[in-house]
Amino acid sequence: MIRKFISRVFSRNKKTKSAQAPATIAAASHGIRRDRISSGSRRVCETLQENGYKAYVVGGAVRDLLIGHQPKDYDIATDATPEQVKRCFRRSRIIGRRFQIVHVHQGQEVIEVTTFRGDQGSDAKTDSHGRVLHDNMFGSQAEDATRRDFTVNALYFDPTTETILDYHHGVADIKQKTLRVIGEPKKRYREDPVRMLRAVRLAAKLGLIIDPAAREPIRAMAELLENVPAARLFDEMLKLLTSGYAVKCLTQLREEGLHHGLLPLLDVVFEQPLGEKFVMLALENTDRRVRQGKPISPGFLFATLLWHHVLTQWERIKAGGEHAIPALNLAMDEVLDSQAEKLAITRRIAGDIKEIWALQPRLENRSGKRPYSVLENPRFRAGYDFLLLRGEAGEIDNELGIWWTDFQQADGEKRAEMLLPAEKTPGKRRRRRKPRSTSPESPAEA
Ligand code: ATP
Ligand code: MG
Repeated sequence: MIRKFISRVFSRNKKTKSAQAPATIAAASHGIRRDRISSGSRRVCETLQENGYKAYVVGGAVRDLLIGHQPKDYDIATDATPEQVKRCFRRSRIIGRRFQIVHVHQGQEVIEVTTFRGDQGSDAKTDSHGRVLHDNMFGSQAEDATRRDFTVNALYFDPTTETILDYHHGVADIKQKTLRVIGEPKKRYREDPVRMLRAVRLAAKLGLIIDPAAREPIRAMAELLENVPAARLFDEMLKLLTSGYAVKCLTQLREEGLHHGLLPLLDVVFEQPLGEKFVMLALENTDRRVRQGKPISPGFLFATLLWHHVLTQWERIKAGGEHAIPALNLAMDEVLDSQAEKLAITRRIAGDIKEIWALQPRLENRSGKRPYSVLENPRFRAGYDFLLLRGEAGEIDNELGIWWTDFQQADGEKRAEMLLPAEKTPGKRRRRRKPRSTSPESPAEA
C-alpha cells in the first residue's frame, strides 16, 4: 500500500519534470491557415474557446495537413470534460463507457472531441505482457501529448491563433520525413503492440522513414501482437488495407517481419505465388479506388485476400469425392472459421464474402436460364469484378470475363445467341447419383 503510494508520488514527480513546455509555431512558419481545416472542426474549437475552454485540432489531421494530404477526419482535444463539452453543443452525444468522448454534429460532419488524457504511470493495469488494459484518466495537455504514439501525432493546431503547439518536435520530424516514437519505443510497443502496425501504416501512407530506434525493436517484438484482441487487430488491418496505400503497407510489413503469424490471412497471401499475384492486383485496384475517392467494400477485399486459401481447400475436398458446389460450401466455411480467431470479421462481411465466392462457379454456367438469373443477383457486380481479377491474375482464362462483359452489354437477341449449348457448358459435370453425407445448401439453388 505504502509502496504503491510512494511509487505514485514518485511517478507524478517524474512526470512533472518531464513535461516540457511546447514550442509555439506561428502560421508564417508552418503555413497552415484556418481555412484549411473543415468548417465544422473550426466551429467546434471556437465554441469551446468562447465557453472558456482550451480546444485544438489534434493528431492525424494536423500531421496530414503539414505533409500536404487531405485529412480524412478531425479530432479535437480539449480540457473540458465530456459533460461540459456536451453542454456547449445541441447536436452532440457522449460515446463510450470507460473513456468517454463526445461526437459533435456540425452539418454533415461528425467531430470527435476528446478530453486531454493522462498517463497512469506505474498504476496502469496491464496484462502479463505489459499491454496497458485501460487508458482512461484525464490529464494535462502536456500529458495528453506524451501519451500519443508518434511525435508527428502530438501536434495541436489552434484555429483562432493559427499556431501549432509542438511538444515533441513533431514539426521538425515532419520536415525531416521521420516517424519517431514518443518516449522509449520498446516500452511504448509493450504498452500497445498495435503501435508497431501503426508505425508501418503511417510511414507507408505518408512517405516517412521510421526512425531507426523505433524500427529496430519491431522484428523481435512482433509476436506481442498475438495478445491483442481480434476486434482491435481487425480494425487496424481494415485501416491499413483501405488506406489507399495497402500494397506499400503490406510490402513494408513484410520487410519489418510483421506479417508472420500476425494474421493467418497474410501468411497465406505471402506463401502462394499465384495467390500473391492475385492479392496484389486486388490491392492495387483498391488503392486506386481509395485515392480516387470511390467507395470500396470490405467484403470484396477480404474475399480476394482469402480466395487462394479457399481454392486449395476446395480442391482438397473435391479430391475426397465431394461434388463441386457442396465442396465449395465446406471450403468457404473452413476458411472463414480458420480466420475467426484472429480476424473478427463481422457476420455481415462474412455473408458478403461468401456470396462473392459462391458466384464464381455460377459464372461458369453460360447456358439456358442461368446467366440471366446470375445477372439478377444483387452481388453480381462484385462477383463479376472478382472474376475479372482472377482472369487478370492468370488463374482462369480471360475469355470467361470477356464473355460476361459482352453479355451484360448485349441486347435480348444478342444475349440469346451468346448462350452456349447446355451439353458443352464448361465446368458442368454429369451428376452421379450418390448418397450425400454432408449436404449444405447449394448456393446455385439458393
Ligand atoms: P489516421 O490518418 O489513420 O486517422 P491517426 O493518427 O489520426 O491516423 P487515429 O486512430 O485517428 O489515427 O488516432 C488519432 C490520434 O490518437 C493519433 O494521431 C494519435 O495521436 C493518437 N493515437 C491513436 N492510436 C494511438 C495509440 N495506439 N497509442 C497512442 N496514441 C494513439
Ligand atoms: Mg484520425
